Amino acid sequence: MSENYPHLFRPLDLGYTQLKNRSVMGSMHTGLEDRSKHFPALAKYFEERARGGVALCVTGGFAPNLAGSLLPLGSKLSRSWETGRHAQVTSAVHAHGSKIALQILHAGRYGYTPICVSASAIKSPISMFKPRAISKRGIHKTIRDYANTARLARKAGYDGVEIMGSEGYFINQFLVERTNKRNDEWGGEFENRMRLPVEIVRAVREAAGDDFMIIYRLSMLDLVEGGSTWEEVVTLGKAIEAAGATIINTGIGWHEARIPTIITPVPRAAFTWVTEKIREHIQLPLITSNRINSPDTAEAVLASGQADMISMARPFLADAEFMNKAQAGHPEQINTCIACNQACLDHVFKAKRASCLVNPRACHETEFITKAASSHKNVAVVGAGPAGLSAACELAEMGHKVDLYDRAKATGGQFNLARKIPGKTEFNETVRYFNQRLKAAGVRVHLETEVDVNVLNNGSYDQVVLATGVVPRTPRIDGIDHAKVCSYIDVIENRVPVGERVAVIGAGGIGFDVAELLVHSHSEQTMNITQFNNEWGIDEEYRERGGLKSPIAPHPQKQVTLLQRKTTKVGAGLGKTSGWAHRASLEANQVDMIAGARYDRIDNAGLHITINDKEKRVIACDNVVICAGQESELAIYEPLQQAGIPVHLIGGAHIASELDAKRAIREGLETAIKINEI
Ligand code: NAP
Ligand code: SF4
Repeated sequence: MSENYPHLFRPLDLGYTQLKNRSVMGSMHTGLEDRSKHFPALAKYFEERARGGVALCVTGGFAPNLAGSLLPLGSKLSRSWETGRHAQVTSAVHAHGSKIALQILHAGRYGYTPICVSASAIKSPISMFKPRAISKRGIHKTIRDYANTARLARKAGYDGVEIMGSEGYFINQFLVERTNKRNDEWGGEFENRMRLPVEIVRAVREAAGDDFMIIYRLSMLDLVEGGSTWEEVVTLGKAIEAAGATIINTGIGWHEARIPTIITPVPRAAFTWVTEKIREHIQLPLITSNRINSPDTAEAVLASGQADMISMARPFLADAEFMNKAQAGHPEQINTCIACNQACLDHVFKAKRASCLVNPRACHETEFITKAASSHKNVAVVGAGPAGLSAACELAEMGHKVDLYDRAKATGGQFNLARKIPGKTEFNETVRYFNQRLKAAGVRVHLETEVDVNVLNNGSYDQVVLATGVVPRTPRIDGIDHAKVCSYIDVIENRVPVGERVAVIGAGGIGFDVAELLVHSHSEQTMNITQFNNEWGIDEEYRERGGLKSPIAPHPQKQVTLLQRKTTKVGAGLGKTSGWAHRASLEANQVDMIAGARYDRIDNAGLHITINDKEKRVIACDNVVICAGQESELAIYEPLQQAGIPVHLIGGAHIASELDAKRAIREGLETAIKINEI
């Protein structure tokens, strides 16, 4: 047992096998599961997490048959010849003393295929395909298919399977009347509706044998109208236990739920209370999950007895070495998942390979290979935002001599703005992570230092990386110099007093952030779990189906109007898996969102606009905040080129229009690899 985090590092004895600690790398589709040619990369991805100390990995979902696929020709394990490719994954994990389970996921009506099936022919709001109601014969065959997949998983070397019974997929669709209108023995009374998962667990146990893990992901809190009652959840949990499951995992929220369950504004460990609630009814080990991203949070949850294991999926994408660093007593070295979804789930939902904003190597382990420097270079990195931090750390770790310059008082660049937004305090972790990495790698950091060509010339640098970032764009609007106009930086840095009525020009990521900041007060940076549950309508008493209650309307601090020129829906360009929640939050705070605006002028009366070239309107306001995007900060680029100094442009200085930390950090890594090879 470890001295650090003793509950997290306590082994779990399952009788026929032991898990070395209490960590589970929860299932997450990476996009590497669908094609045989990607399995070497998938094996490397899991191998790094196993080497990093994870006790039990769970793969992304594999369908038990064609109709259950998430995507056309998506991941599936139903034929003997499909097992070969999996053996490289399982042996890579076993080589490091970890275990791995294959997740069996039947998408049901969430399948993005015309052949999808469900309990009844009811279309989901998140897929364009209406499912066919599966026949009775089809149900029996599907149960046999689950058993077959488990048998094949065992043959491929897996230590177990996870049966995905939550998030609104096929099994969930049988459990509730909102999606199950059948009048045969698979519909009607709850006893009938829950027959499918119980029969599946029984069949899987029979097929796979006693010494094989069956994890069942139980939908404990559906968060949709007409979802399960608490009594139904408990009844099903007990029946799953009796049917032969080994471990019960916690499932929170259907994908179509309109309550955020994993993104940044969700408080850490916001749903462990649900796992704790079922504890008195179930004897099996329980896994809890959702927004647990630090060893301290995991340890606290385990120590309080809320669960027996902690599932973290995205935190292990962000840092494969998470567990080893925790065990060594160095949590400050962990690259923390900030729950942004920008490179993981947003990619998966666009059928792109997943990665991680703070760790671009995730799911690309075989591509980004960093080597020790063969010739040591003198490198200057100008700008200590995400791009510059990434480049400086990578270069110094390769063995180059690196000077990092920034005119600001602190490292972090745009992250220092982001972390001041309510619900975005996780960005602090990334700044902390890079700062300790700079120190460990021996980067010489020069803050409050303005550099020009002379400084860089005198430093006799072999290469210069320009990561100078961006400057806010000032749009040409009549009255832009009016005293009531200020920039988003003024507002976020709390540099100017802001009145009660505010118009925000520009509804990109930063416009949304500023609106969120304005409707809250500066002191309200994070919500506690009770405030979060009240604001989003989650009932810890579980009085209604789905665990829902009426949300308590927030009291916005200011009256905000958020405007854009485009005629598309305001917020349409935000992240696929998070944009809707940011929009819903602003709507709850009565933010008026206006698309198709032309900005005519700003004067004492306020902001004069024309909407859709027709309707003239004056937004009476005390302040107008400009969030109209950015332009690259390139003041020293040309002088550097003229002086013949090799220069690499990255981050916002490279492309301002897509100012994006994901690209910035990745470009820092790519540029370091490039310089290393020169
Ligand atoms: P952005 O997303 O490009 O949005 C800029 C906004 O300004 C748009 O609404 C644009 O819409 C408007 N605009 C552009 N030129 C204008 C002009 N000349 N006059 C008036 N309006 C103009 O940029 P951002 O909001 O500064 O965000 C930058 C980046 O930060 C994003 O790309 C994102 O990667 C990141 N970020 C994301 C989030 C998030 O997703 N939650 C939060 C913060 C930051 P119209 O052209 O329609 O007016
Ligand atoms: Fe976490 Fe964001 Fe990385 Fe996804 S992209 S793993 S949410 S930090």
